[in-house]
Amino acid sequence: MRSKAQVKQSILDALERRRDEIIAIGEQIMQEPELGFKEFKTARRVVDVFEQLGIPYRNGLAITGVKGRLQGVRPGPTFALLGELDSLVVFEHPQANPETGAAHACGHNAQIAGLLGAAMALTEADVADAISGNIVFFAVPAEEYVEVEYRARLVEEGKIEFLGGKPEMIRLGHFDDIDMAMMIHTSSDKDMIAGIADSSNGCVVKLIRYLGKAAHAGGAPHKGINALNAAMLGLSGIHALRETFQDGDTIRVHPIITHGGDLVNVVPALVRMETFVRGKTNEAIQDANEKVDRALKAGALAIGATVEIQTLPGYMPMANNSELATTFKENVIPIVGEDKFTQGGHRTGSTDMGDVTHIMPAIHPYIGGAKGTGHSAEWHIADPELGYLAPARALALTAVDMLYGDAEPARRILESSKPLMTKEEYLAYQRQVISTETYGDQVLSLACSGKIG
Ligand SMILES: [Zn+2]
Repeated sequence: MRSKAQVKQSILDALERRRDEIIAIGEQIMQEPELGFKEFKTARRVVDVFEQLGIPYRNGLAITGVKGRLQGVRPGPTFALLGELDSLVVFEHPQANPETGAAHACGHNAQIAGLLGAAMALTEADVADAISGNIVFFAVPAEEYVEVEYRARLVEEGKIEFLGGKPEMIRLGHFDDIDMAMMIHTSSDKDMIAGIADSSNGCVVKLIRYLGKAAHAGGAPHKGINALNAAMLGLSGIHALRETFQDGDTIRVHPIITHGGDLVNVVPALVRMETFVRGKTNEAIQDANEKVDRALKAGALAIGATVEIQTLPGYMPMANNSELATTFKENVIPIVGEDKFTQGGHRTGSTDMGDVTHIMPAIHPYIGGAKGTGHSAEWHIADPELGYLAPARALALTAVDMLYGDAEPARRILESSKPLMTKEEYLAYQRQVISTETYGDQVLSLACSGKIG
């Protein structure tokens, strides 16, 4: 059998041969951004590469997901490499889709390039006879928790149950045959050329409707109930509560108004809002969530309006596996240098990779190559070597480290780390988050009687 060093060298050689192709995939996806649960063209690109490589796959999972498998000659653990298919909406982005505003302002295009690059290299290097177990290449939909009303409709139509791609994949059983997982997110942070945090925030997601009563805004406002004023008081209540949030809980509440009224000369009878409530632990999120509900109700009470508060499962806080993180670090330091690697700390964003880290050993590290603030019009891949090729290399080499020979490192991690939740406990936790509460005594009018109208 080839030594591990020989196998790793053939992976590096394969990546060198496929260099231009991998970069082109990343750039093509950048030009063709698609929002979550609608990533049909991007999923097609994944399928095309799997077919070209002869990797058996299943597609259409949770609408657009694609899962390929490289089987080792000996049985052993299954290690999944993940890439996220979806984009954001940033209308001002130069490469945004002019109709939908979809734009890759978070680097998920580079994730798919990295994933497919790893698939090419591991296949060409013929690692099957050098490993025990399987490597799964998993392109997953809808990491960005956006278009909440659209996805809530998909839920009502029975097309999905959870609004994020990985929770939905977990529910459908597509993680059942996976023992451990990793993905690599792009970073545009000049202080993080490569790195991994210990944790990141989890969240719940809320859809809010204030219902008032329309009336002539000039002639007879006293006959109306101003839903916008109720909403503004609700928002003020949330802001007044911020001093009660503990620094250590890293609470983030960031509401937006998605509908603020219909006509300027009519007292607003319907206002819609969305918000996340994020925090470091599920307990902290729950505590802040109760306060937010109280504030929202206070706005309705003051004005005599009615508020309907719908709370949906968001994402779990992240708990990166430290042993997997160390193996990633060993594989990325030769690319970036030891002094450019940052480790530890807490991040205040949220991702559904947190959900995966709750049920199995998994990591969500970062590699640079991007410039511009994430989720902004300036975001782009400035260094294709680092942005597209380095993740392919780190994914492929980490997989080999885990599964080479009798897959001892993977087996050791699986024995020593107990998941925070079983799949069943995780699903039960997310389902108990779901609630709809109405405060106030208005009967929902016909025009806004749809659940999320
Ligand atoms: Zn992202």
